[in-house]
Amino acid sequence: MKVLIVGAGFSGAVIARELVEAGYRVTVIDRRPHLAGNCHTERDVDTGVMVHVYGPHIFHTDDEEVWAYVNRFSSFQPYVNRVKTTVGGRVYSLPINLHTINQFFGTTLRPDEAREFIESQAVTGNANPRTFEEQGLRFVGPRLYKAFFHGYTKKQWGCHPSELPASILKRLPVRFNYNDNYFFHRFQGMPEQGYTALVAGILDHPNIEVRLNTSFQRAMAADYDHVFYSGPLDGYFDYSEGRLGYRTLDFERFTYDGDYQGCAVMNYGDESVPYTRITEHKHFSPWEQHRGSVCYREYSRACGPDDIPYYPIRLVDEKAMLARYVDKAKGARGVTFVGRLGTYRYLDMDVTIREALDTARGFLDARRGDQPIPAFFNEPM
Ligand SMILES: Cc1cc2nc3c(=O)[nH]c(=O)nc-3n(C[C@H](O)[C@H](O)[C@H](O)COP(=O)(O)OP(=O)(O)OC[C@H]3O[C@@H](n4cnc5c(N)ncnc54)[C@H](O)[C@@H]3O)c2cc1C
Repeated sequence: MKVLIVGAGFSGAVIARELVEAGYRVTVIDRRPHLAGNCHTERDVDTGVMVHVYGPHIFHTDDEEVWAYVNRFSSFQPYVNRVKTTVGGRVYSLPINLHTINQFFGTTLRPDEAREFIESQAVTGNANPRTFEEQGLRFVGPRLYKAFFHGYTKKQWGCHPSELPASILKRLPVRFNYNDNYFFHRFQGMPEQGYTALVAGILDHPNIEVRLNTSFQRAMAADYDHVFYSGPLDGYFDYSEGRLGYRTLDFERFTYDGDYQGCAVMNYGDESVPYTRITEHKHFSPWEQHRGSVCYREYSRACGPDDIPYYPIRLVDEKAMLARYVDKAKGARGVTFVGRLGTYRYLDMDVTIREALDTARGFLDARRGDQPIPAFFNEPM
């Protein structure tokens, strides 16, 4: 059986590896000139800094199998994501924790006192908040909401927080202790030689042929028995139902002689600052020493036809369009849609790898049982 895999990001690479280890031969194509999709990293020639080319990526997971899987192909260095934010001319710790609360209000509250104090700030009149704004006000009260959520969210999503669903904010934690580790997961780290070397390791097998700078055309499918497609779902159908909405990012790169901001990620919450954050890439590799520094100012805006799609918007209109594409995909034969673009969902890397492992196993089971291979192993809706 000839299998084509479109996309050399984590989705495509992991599926390819699983299939060749089960005895298949596969071809992987990617339209970009490099491996690893949006996780691509490369060393800056002048400074030697490992740059996260499409924005910062921190590996974190609770999934032991996924953690063992990535460690099979790369050594990992410990890394804990600690984010700061500049608001109103001051620097605070994120996510909102006891330090943030005490800094912001000029207090010395202990955990129980802080919880009581924040509860006293909360706008509790609305028992069933439906929007991001209502949820934020109910959650932390107007002052913390305005400082830490309102401006940042407007910049990130390009709309007023009253137009966004409450569910987005439900995911953001407030901590009544001094834990400023951004993630709760048990395993967290950075691949020592970057993500591209990690993906290259996954794809390093004699039965995997990789072709970069190669765009998928639907006519190519005729040469293969099955296609795994990790490109954009709407793109596969030539945008016949319209374009699924995404946010894209612009990175304004600059260099600095020394340490520019003393941390990897500094958010900017004020609406008057046009960018959402500055990332200083050498701090993602704290075990390395570099004098020079490479930084990105990050701007978020609506994704146009020629831009790189980053964050799926998934509001009411997009979901209606998505439902039409899902119907079309289920009617197509010989193709399975995978990954963040193929299923139009935001997926962290560990979830992407978990889904790719399960997809490959589901495919192999279906083949053994002579069952049809579904368009989706993970439902986009
Ligand atoms: C700014 C940002 C920061 C993130 N930070 C983190 C983080 O800190 N931690 C974390 O776990 N996750 C993070 N993620 C998520 C992470 O990027 C994804 O989990 C991962 O990229 C998904 O891999 P994928 O293979 O599904 O998609 P992609 O990496 O997008 O790979 C898809 C590949 O398909 C190729 N392709 C598309 N269409 C075609 C075509 N027609 N022909 C040929 N090739 C095609 C593309 O060129 C691309 O290389 C972040 C995402 C963003 C946007």
